[in-house]
Amino acid sequence: MNANDPGQPPVTAAGSISTNLAVPRIALAIGAHPDDIEFGAGGTLAKWAQAGCEIHHLVLTDGSKGTWDPTADTAALVARRSREQVEAHIRLGGHGANDVHWLGRVDGELVADIPGRSEIARVIRAVKPDVVLSHDPWKRYRLHPDHRETGRLVCDAIVAARDPHFHPEHGLDPHRPLHLLLWEADEVNHIEDVEATVDIKLHALDAHESQFESTMKATDDDGLAAFRERMHQRLADIGAPAGFSAGEAFHLMSQL
Ligand SMILES: [Zn+2]
Repeated sequence: MNANDPGQPPVTAAGSISTNLAVPRIALAIGAHPDDIEFGAGGTLAKWAQAGCEIHHLVLTDGSKGTWDPTADTAALVARRSREQVEAHIRLGGHGANDVHWLGRVDGELVADIPGRSEIARVIRAVKPDVVLSHDPWKRYRLHPDHRETGRLVCDAIVAARDPHFHPEHGLDPHRPLHLLLWEADEVNHIEDVEATVDIKLHALDAHESQFESTMKATDDDGLAAFRERMHQRLADIGAPAGFSAGEAFHLMSQL
């Protein structure tokens, strides 16, 4: 798998890997684009939702560049991807559109600025997640700027959300999550068992129909079947070091 393909990197840090966090009460997953969360942590979120966790999505950009068609109506694409994201959230076990939050930045133009940090911290303070999940900003050779910037914004927002002198204008109590899980991690140190929810993850990815051609490299049924087979194999490879038949890999940060 290419370093900039969506999904999951190989597990490289065998020997010091933890597994399976306690099911959080509330989890907040933050992605750059519609579909990033399903690629990064869909199996884990589905597993937790089945166990009673309230899952929230926060998507930072509008997905307006997610097509290879230079003549595409990007306003229509944004609306379509918004609907696809809500559907994917529901398929993972989420409660619906009220738990899908948006920053609304233009796709490809996200910058880790103070207003963005503030808005993400505001969502963290409002949702009060036990676990936050997002992109790893320290992933080497990560090409897409939105993925790097999202990781930076989320790490910075964790600090801003927990400390009372950041953004008192929110009028919300500070909130400190227990754990931060970074997907497509530069250094994997944690694996979640997703054996029971692989099919739900793939079903949620199927909701992102507008991305079949550009992201999943699937223009017909055979191409889609091949994509699913690649995902099954990748998740099996990731789970293997932990003895799982399927896994999602992360860099776990605790004591935030
Ligand atoms: Zn993305």
